[in-house]
Amino acid sequence: MVAAVARCYNAAMMPDNSSFSDRPDDICARLPKLPPQPTEPASPPIYAASVYRCESPAQAENLLSGESAGYVYSRDGHPNADQLAQKCAELHAAGWATACSSGMAALALAAVSHLTQGDHVVVGNQLYGRSLQLFNGELARFGVEAATVDTCDLDATAAALRPTTRLVVAETITNPLLRVTDIARLSALVHAHGARLLVDNTLATPIVCRPLELGADLVVESLTKLMSGHSDVLLGLLCGTGNAPQRVKAAQSTWGFSTSPFDCWLALRGLGTLALRAERAMASAEAAARFLIGHEKVSRVEHPGLSEHPDHELAASQFHGRFGNMVTCTLHGGLAAAERFIAAKTIPFCPSLGDLSTTLSHPSSTSHRSMSEDARRSLGIEQATVRLSVGIESADAVMAGLAEGLSAV
Ligand code: PLP
Repeated sequence: MVAAVARCYNAAMMPDNSSFSDRPDDICARLPKLPPQPTEPASPPIYAASVYRCESPAQAENLLSGESAGYVYSRDGHPNADQLAQKCAELHAAGWATACSSGMAALALAAVSHLTQGDHVVVGNQLYGRSLQLFNGELARFGVEAATVDTCDLDATAAALRPTTRLVVAETITNPLLRVTDIARLSALVHAHGARLLVDNTLATPIVCRPLELGADLVVESLTKLMSGHSDVLLGLLCGTGNAPQRVKAAQSTWGFSTSPFDCWLALRGLGTLALRAERAMASAEAAARFLIGHEKVSRVEHPGLSEHPDHELAASQFHGRFGNMVTCTLHGGLAAAERFIAAKTIPFCPSLGDLSTTLSHPSSTSHRSMSEDARRSLGIEQATVRLSVGIESADAVMAGLAEGLSAV
């Protein structure tokens, strides 16, 4: 039996050292041989290795110190993470990029690698809930102070800057109200103050906006969302201008923000269709917004492509005619109306965004549940507010789902 299996092997894969043993326990424990291949795989292999064999102590030291390129331990780096980061760097025209285990890990990496005790940060009041908790709560325990302001309001942002402000954090398009940050003007203000601008570009993606080209210093994407596009991975991206700061690499490995090879492989595969998916979803989002704005059960609609949106002109010029795939609407009839719309299940209630299919989220019970009702209302988020992430179905299918769901309200 053993001999028959062994005969099936390519000779190049048989062990070639003299200590070759055919005992089952030795066979099980032996590292597989990796013969050179005459052809290259057409799609990238998954390097599911936590560690790589080294030739010598000198080689290990060179690789671990970064003196020569290569891999030793996958928390420090691996080919699938580098392939993903390279593609993202190209998409963002970035000097450097690194893939992290989630969008939150990317934000945490930006913070721990750029801030220290006594520093001050200014953060947008409409940031993703966990981002606000990171900057206002977690970092406060490490002696980093935060001021929360509307970063779409440049005067308010200027007033919040202090001599110790090192970082200003804003989102390109906020969730769920889809307000748009004027990145060029905000970065000029932040740089005049000697601080850095970090932009979370998750709702835009580089298809809509490349914040580094507008003056941002650092960009984060939750790759979990439209970038990967299939709701099957959790990953993030941190990228920036110039050369990769050594402290980013060191902090990433030390804090353990590193990635799984399989997740990176899935995300790279997803990125292959990002531009197509985004263009299709954006066209349907615009159609859905126009459909909703005329609907009797809907009291308010937000989408930057609508001329009624407060940031429409800024969005039109900054995003070169693209407006993203998010649409937010508030229904007549309060929480009960939102509950009936969700119960109709014509659009799945999935509190995330960027999937292939259109999904909805209910901000007051999910992303913004930790805010008081008054604080939510002051931003314009009601219990009847529903945020759609439009997918790649036909616009007709999206509108049919909305129409059927609204008929149940
Ligand atoms: N930034 C924004 C705008 C988000 O919406 C999210 C998650 O919803 C994150 C960051 C965090 O990303 P992740 O869930 O990949 O950690």
